[in-house]
Amino acid sequence: MESCLGVEQDLDKAISKFNAINDHTDIVLQDIIEQVQNLKKEIAQNPPDTPLSQTQAMVVSDLAARVKQTVFQMSTEHRELHATVSRVGKSIDKHFIADYGSVAPKAELFCSDINRPIMEQAIAQHIYRQGLEEVGDAVVAESGVTGVERSCEFAALQRCAVALAAGDPGPALQWAEQHAARLEHSPLPFTLHRMQALRLARSEGVRAAIEYAREQFPRHAARHERQLQAAVCALAWVRAGAGPAPRAYRRLLAPAALGAEAAELFVREACALLRLAPLSPLAGAVLAGARVLPALHDIRAKMTHPHVVAAWSDDELPLEVDLGEDGGGYHSVFACPILRQQASEQNPPMRLLCGHVISRDALNKLAMGAKLKCPYCPMEQAPAEARQIYFS
Ligand SMILES: [Zn+2]
Repeated sequence: MESCLGVEQDLDKAISKFNAINDHTDIVLQDIIEQVQNLKKEIAQNPPDTPLSQTQAMVVSDLAARVKQTVFQMSTEHRELHATVSRVGKSIDKHFIADYGSVAPKAELFCSDINRPIMEQAIAQHIYRQGLEEVGDAVVAESGVTGVERSCEFAALQRCAVALAAGDPGPALQWAEQHAARLEHSPLPFTLHRMQALRLARSEGVRAAIEYAREQFPRHAARHERQLQAAVCALAWVRAGAGPAPRAYRRLLAPAALGAEAAELFVREACALLRLAPLSPLAGAVLAGARVLPALHDIRAKMTHPHVVAAWSDDELPLEVDLGEDGGGYHSVFACPILRQQASEQNPPMRLLCGHVISRDALNKLAMGAKLKCPYCPMEQAPAEARQIYFS
């Protein structure tokens, strides 16, 4: 963040200088144009083919000299502006680390014949998930990747979220209506109806909003009483000339912020309901990568130490990084709760019939012939009924 602020200062300087030059140039140019036009009019008043008088000739040559001088000044100012702009580039180089190669020594693996199509597949899948079918089609056609799902459930959700962010709760309301039974305990339906009521107040007037609220709000009155009261009160400030709204209602009266908030809630709730990951594999990997990079960068000197290199296995980072809760916390690693060992290809996680998961070594140790008692629930089952779990 400090880096961003550092660059922002230089960027602000460049922008204000640019604007100042722009304004100044506009005035100077306008002035010159007027002078030329006035002179042109004056000369046009002479009968055709009349030679210029001595005074007129002097005025013309004076003006020509002034135009030349102005153009010269403008080009000098423009050159100076270039220096300010290039300072922003230098500021970016100074504030940000350009070379992350040292913390990702295996980055070239992405380009291998095996991994490149996987990367391209992840990119295409991400684009389709965003609901950008045409862009996805072009990527698939150009890269020649296969096995990409064109229409996915998430794309439909994404379209609703985009509409919400743009201020239109219509598609999301329709979706919520279809899943009403399963959204009974979710704050989503009320949030969407509230957004629709406030939207109606702006587009069709407060009366329309109140009618809508009367129809939709009672169902949510018990769970969202305070929010509902706030929404109805906020309507008072939607009218033109109502003056600035009190602080408590400002959030409700800012359509962009309300839309963005609703879009976020919608994706979260809909993904939870449909059991979809809110992030595509690519977005998840980028998020995790962005979180881990600064930590890796801090310890990069230690990472090249022979002991660390030796201890650093191929598929594991040399440090633990908290990926947070917002979609970053994937469990691609399983540790057996019985043997407290990390699962491996030789000792994979096994899902028991009851749903509990332990490692295969633990399963073999716990099995008594053809019988196995789950150490957690303690359901009796046959070891052969356990299924191996694969993380992808
Ligand atoms: Zn169990």
